[in-house]
Amino acid sequence: FLPHLVASLEQVDQTYIMVKPDGVQRGLVGEIISRFERKGFKLTGLKLFQCPKELAEEHYKDLKGKPFYPTLIDYITSGPVVCMVWEGVGVVASARKLIGSTNPLQAEPGTIRGDLAVQTGRNVVHGSDSPENGKREAALWFKEGELCEWTPAQAPWLME
Ligand code: GDP
Ligand code: MG
Repeated sequence: FLPHLVASLEQVDQTYIMVKPDGVQRGLVGEIISRFERKGFKLTGLKLFQCPKELAEEHYKDLKGKPFYPTLIDYITSGPVVCMVWEGVGVVASARKLIGSTNPLQAEPGTIRGDLAVQTGRNVVHGSDSPENGKREAALWFKEGELCEWTPAQAPWLME
């Protein structure tokens, strides 16, 4: 019986986090990864990737028809992105808090968007909005075998 594994009996969620092309171009990849890493979530997938148009359209299919949709697809496909999957209890909602509001001018200081961005159309990072979408997006952006199941050495120091 390992006490720190009790948490694994709770629902462990996945969230899909992506450093958008502006975050990569501005050299913010390390800074953004670091915030999730320091919080204590578990990284299970990571890659630099040039997103094809079809994938961007599938990822943002719920926004099809919005006036900004064409420029959103251009933005996301304009350069490489960094794709990540992070896992943990409550990771989806917590990651959204770390990221901050969609409009960076309304995002609280201390959040990624609040600290590092000024415009909704250049808001540097994506995070899934529900556990269901976390699973859907992780499966959309990563192939079978690209995600790693592992136990971080720090696990017993993060959870009692
Ligand atoms: P998120 O979940 O906080 O990323 O926000 P949404 O799901 O509402 O929108 C997805 C992404 O579309 C946002 O992160 C922005 O990159 C973009 N977006 C949303 N609303 C606007 C807008 O009014 N103008 C522009 N240019 N982009 C937008
Ligand atoms: Mg969203």
